[in-house]
Amino acid sequence: MIKKEDIYLMSPIALQKFLFNLEARRITKQKFQKEFYEKLQELKKSQNYSISELQALQMEKLKIMVEHCYNNVPYYRNLFDEIKLQPSDIKKLEDIQKIPILTRDCVKNNRGSLTASNIPKNQRLSRNTSGTTGSPMHFFVDLKSYSLNRAYMWRYWNWAGFNFDDRRISIQGRRIINRDRTEVPFWMHNKWDKQLFFSTYHLSEKFMHYYVDKMFEFEPQAIEAYPSAVYVLARYMDEKNIKYKLNAVFTSSETLYPIQREIIERVFQCKIFDKYGLSEMFFISNECEYHEGLHLNMEYAVTQILNGQDLTESPGTEGRIICTGLENFSMPLIRYDTGDLGEFLPNECSCDRKSPLMAPVKTKAEDQILTPDGRYVSGSLLTFPFKPMRNIKKSQIIQDDVHAVKIKIVKNEQYSKKDSGLLIGGLKKCLGNDIKITLEFVDDIARTKNGKFRWVISNVQRKMDLKNNI
Ligand SMILES: [Zn+2]
Repeated sequence: MIKKEDIYLMSPIALQKFLFNLEARRITKQKFQKEFYEKLQELKKSQNYSISELQALQMEKLKIMVEHCYNNVPYYRNLFDEIKLQPSDIKKLEDIQKIPILTRDCVKNNRGSLTASNIPKNQRLSRNTSGTTGSPMHFFVDLKSYSLNRAYMWRYWNWAGFNFDDRRISIQGRRIINRDRTEVPFWMHNKWDKQLFFSTYHLSEKFMHYYVDKMFEFEPQAIEAYPSAVYVLARYMDEKNIKYKLNAVFTSSETLYPIQREIIERVFQCKIFDKYGLSEMFFISNECEYHEGLHLNMEYAVTQILNGQDLTESPGTEGRIICTGLENFSMPLIRYDTGDLGEFLPNECSCDRKSPLMAPVKTKAEDQILTPDGRYVSGSLLTFPFKPMRNIKKSQIIQDDVHAVKIKIVKNEQYSKKDSGLLIGGLKKCLGNDIKITLEFVDDIARTKNGKFRWVISNVQRKMDLKNNI
């Protein structure tokens, strides 16, 4: 069956513009419903709550969610009956520990029974996770999620000084232009939402000057993007010594490496406001204007950091990030294992907001290399050997076997054998001598189907052993 998206992508550009605008108007309308304005007002109030007021609000929402799960979601009804748990047993936040952890596989295998029976089909939307790890996950969200998620988004954007009248450029996964296109435009303008979509799939050196020209013409106040996508643009501008002053760059969905942050902030002369969330749990935490960590959105989810024995880790210690969503009733996720590792920070933020801080999530589980001696080496650490490498334009690290790692490299004309020796030497310092490192020179490195870029891809089966994490 031909999908709607394929018909759109095959259409002539004039028709694409027309179809794009129709869809943009529909989605923009869906985002700015009455619920959006109400929620945003609520969130602007609760951001000033004390920690005990925030916890009380969380508890109130958690009770409603657990009650709903028991009454309307077969998976939870069976689970609670099996472990002899009543919704009334959840009296305080810590009681959430009584509910078993929900894994991604479990969601995949129980999609039907995790769907609430009391929400009509026309009141929910079907969604997929990106499937960067190979198999996408299907799930449902409430119809009003567009509005609710936008309210969280706008609170976060407001913290960065980005307001309703401002314009933004989006460089994310949406396919707006056919991949085969070789001439401008590589963008689409959503005039309903003051937003210019840049195609993530055409961000090559050849076309980059068109992007830069278009950006100057559009005059945005912010860019929202995958870190890797805005980094490509920033690197190009940095090399050409071009600067453009923005109020903020909003990043999410991929690990943001320190080297990326440094260059992006320099070129756009503003701070990055990073957000942590997943397709299935959108707004777990985000940075404020003080950039001392990511504030937990306590109204949105109960977030826990757990160790290998499922016990709570104290601030400053890394553990698994487990989240309970408080906003989505169509397919509730309680104690959902995000597959990511993170930590709470012990300090309060210098802003007046009392919600706790999380450190940036730098170790997505799939972004680590497993060494033959059983260590997990994070992508952040592996950026170091690449730092002095001036002659590498793009790279990617792939591990299919515990004893071998392949590095894909797009080199420039000055690249020499000396560079290879330096890189391999640096990588061996991180990974040890027992791992074989091969270099593969390529013309370009493709993004995944959803436009994301994973710098480290490990396909080695692993059992998470936190003690061995570095
Ligand atoms: Zn703050």
